[in-house]
Amino acid sequence: MAKIQMTTPLVEMDGDEMTRIIWQMIKDDLICPFVDLKTEYYDLGLEHRNETDDAVTVESAEAAKRLGVAVKCATITANAARVKEYGLKQMWKSPNGTIRAMLDGTVFRAPIVVRGIEPCVSNWKAPITLARHAYGDVYENAEIRIPGAGKVELVYTAADGTEERELVHEFDGPGVVQGMHNLDASIESFARSCFNYALDTRQDVWFSTKDTISKKYDHRFKDIFQEIFDAEYKERFDEAGIEYFYTLIDDAVARVMKSKGGFIWACKNYDGDVMSDMVSSAFGSLAMMTSVLVSPDGVYEYEAAHGTVQRHYYKHLKGEETSTNSVATIFAWSGALRKRGELDGLPELMAFADRLEQATVDTIEAGEMTGDLALITTIENPVKLSTREFIQAIAKRLAA
Ligand code: NAP
Ligand code: MG
Repeated sequence: MAKIQMTTPLVEMDGDEMTRIIWQMIKDDLICPFVDLKTEYYDLGLEHRNETDDAVTVESAEAAKRLGVAVKCATITANAARVKEYGLKQMWKSPNGTIRAMLDGTVFRAPIVVRGIEPCVSNWKAPITLARHAYGDVYENAEIRIPGAGKVELVYTAADGTEERELVHEFDGPGVVQGMHNLDASIESFARSCFNYALDTRQDVWFSTKDTISKKYDHRFKDIFQEIFDAEYKERFDEAGIEYFYTLIDDAVARVMKSKGGFIWACKNYDGDVMSDMVSSAFGSLAMMTSVLVSPDGVYEYEAAHGTVQRHYYKHLKGEETSTNSVATIFAWSGALRKRGELDGLPELMAFADRLEQATVDTIEAGEMTGDLALITTIENPVKLSTREFIQAIAKRLAA
């Protein structure tokens, strides 16, 4: 059988621990037998990041900007324990943070829905994709613990020296105070990423803030989204038969719980942080969450939402059998291959991505799955497979 050809390479960002093992298995058993895979390879494994003083991370993000589509393996975010374990020159920054900052992107997280792994919320029939604004607010705040009586003001000093003041509070005893900011430019990028992704995936966008209470700060988010939607996206949304819908965050939460799913929920930074954990756990398993970083100018980086599954890796190193779920990493590859096919006009490559996803879903729905899913499935007598057996079971269906 002739292999499917590619024209432009994918940016391949390899990673760490158990997901690095899975990465190779996916390429060997699920992709390379069918596709003449072309990638520009960057090793983001912690050892190589350390050897290159993290230059490899920056190079990989530059490659993503140049080529447009990347697929990334989970990577270790260094902490004190990792500095010791790997003898690091320094505590390197999170690769995801570096890449996100360089692409100015928004992260969309969506669960992979299969029969037999049912969401806790029984009316959710289609995935809910969560888009989190990853800049500013409480994550880049300034805080003071107020020791006693005194006045706190916000002071804005313009370039020409003029001042604008706003009283925060007259303290008559101890307390706390916090200052936050955001940027029109960042909110605009966030809005465009959400609207582009909605057109791309043909889903409605819901956006929610607390604009009734925060009449300037949150209201600015609401206004920017509406202005950009009206000026740049309304017609294309009408043509695609999708909608943009703004509502108060409280109302959004209530509606999400009663919805059928199948839309993008755009959230401010903190709301997105909290709600993405709720949505992903309610859909069943972190190992079934995909994640895609979309830049406002249309660069796509696909990955699994989970980490490097360290505990399983140490078992693997001891020669013990593991049963690590590779679904989210497989869907990162299929997402990237499909997008590459779409951009390069390669319908065969797009069809292969669909087949790979279908074979993965069919395997689970036939009762063959990894241990994490076997514990929560509603399918009777599931067969628990090892990491490799699960990938081989998918390969068998793909080849059939
Ligand atoms: P993790 O790798 O997501 O794993 C936490 C636990 O969740 C695992 O021990 C396992 O539970 C379960 N799990 C996660 N993914 C699974 C899968 N594919 N199959 C089966 N079970 C799975 O998080 P972590 O252990 O907190 O972090 C490990 C490393 O990953 C850290 O160095 C962290 O910095 C990094 N990380 C990277 C990314 C990224 O690159 N995007 C994201 C998050 C974390 P059981 O042990 O109970 O089986
Ligand atoms: Mg969180």
